[in-house]
Amino acid sequence: MSPTGMQIPVAKPLLDEQEIDAVRRVVLSGWITQGAEVAAFESEFAAFVGASHACAVSNCTTALHLALKVVGVGQGDEVITVSHSFIATANAVRYCGAVPVFVDIEPDGFNIDPSLVEAAITPKTKAILCVHQLGMPCDLAQIVEIGRRYSIPVIEDAACASGSEVLWNSQWEKIGRSHGDVACFSFHPRKLLTTGDGGMLTTTVAEFDAKFRLWRQHAMSVPDTVRHGSQRVIFESYPELGYNYRMTDLQAAIGRVQLIRLPGLVSKRRRLAEQYRDGLSRIEGLTAPVEPSWARTNWQSYCVTLPDWLDQSKIMQALLDRGVSTRRGVMNIHRESAYADPHSHRIAGHLGRSIAAQEKSIILPLFAQMTESELSFVLESLQQATSTLSRSVSRLVG
Ligand SMILES: *Cc1c(COP(=O)(O)O)cnc(C)c1O
Repeated sequence: MSPTGMQIPVAKPLLDEQEIDAVRRVVLSGWITQGAEVAAFESEFAAFVGASHACAVSNCTTALHLALKVVGVGQGDEVITVSHSFIATANAVRYCGAVPVFVDIEPDGFNIDPSLVEAAITPKTKAILCVHQLGMPCDLAQIVEIGRRYSIPVIEDAACASGSEVLWNSQWEKIGRSHGDVACFSFHPRKLLTTGDGGMLTTTVAEFDAKFRLWRQHAMSVPDTVRHGSQRVIFESYPELGYNYRMTDLQAAIGRVQLIRLPGLVSKRRRLAEQYRDGLSRIEGLTAPVEPSWARTNWQSYCVTLPDWLDQSKIMQALLDRGVSTRRGVMNIHRESAYADPHSHRIAGHLGRSIAAQEKSIILPLFAQMTESELSFVLESLQQATSTLSRSVSRLVG
């Protein structure tokens, strides 16, 4: 068993009395849905990432839907993205009536391979939806350059990337300024900054931000906050089709506390990840994830690649038997039944690396409260499991 005799979870949000105090303040204020707290969270988040605009929504999936819609993605259009992502990435494309076009990932990482993007472009391509998978920035410089050259907007699925950074014109900048046209964040508990559920759209384009604000609130011409504060009777109107994609003030109040914690969470995770990298270099067969020189990840997940001879479910079971939770590598969207209809998507080239990444990688426990001894125990368990499993393989072969 682990040092504490407890199961080591794969992830764990950091929440305490400060979040409780924040929610208490909101409950007692009498205004609990989208209001002053959401507005404050938006301006604090915008300042944090260096964006001119930030609009809070109910989650990252709804953020992706609005981002694709604002750049004009509609019925029959194509959006270039990856299959190797959480299913919401491609689902948002389908909400617009468009077709996700899947390209493969890089040889030494879990992000879109920029060298495959150009070949996937057709006259129907209306956006490139790149993902900063597991918090690791994708190669934005190359993708944004391709987008500019073909006049195709770039949307960043930054669901996992709160607090991650990219080297941009020789300066470290936060993911979300945004470097593409719009960046979309998630505040689900599996990400670093959590509000339970929640999302954020950041952009430098004022007109996009105005559209997000309209659409998230039923496309209501005059928001309830304005009517509430008015001394004159105002009737609202609904000029176009909108949605209810609001974040509540309860969530935003938690988010504001979490945002203050975020830099500390990132540096703690980066220290733990270094300890993993050192330890993994001494375990035969396992490959630590690579951080490119132009990226500073928040290590939302720490995903290790297994050698061919090591069975994914066997090693995960061996770790679980010792109280260490893991998860398989990121899924592939095109392999799910929801994508069985060949008209639901298009595959550009091969997805061999995406499939290998799903089957030959595992996500190790990593969370801010994790102790060095817990991390050493994970490494020791990996060492033991790989050597036991390699002996059984060599017995079979020999
Ligand atoms: C978590 C995640 C989403 C969905 O975020 P929600 O806030 O749960 O809607 C989308 N894309 C990626 C890559 C994710 O990891």
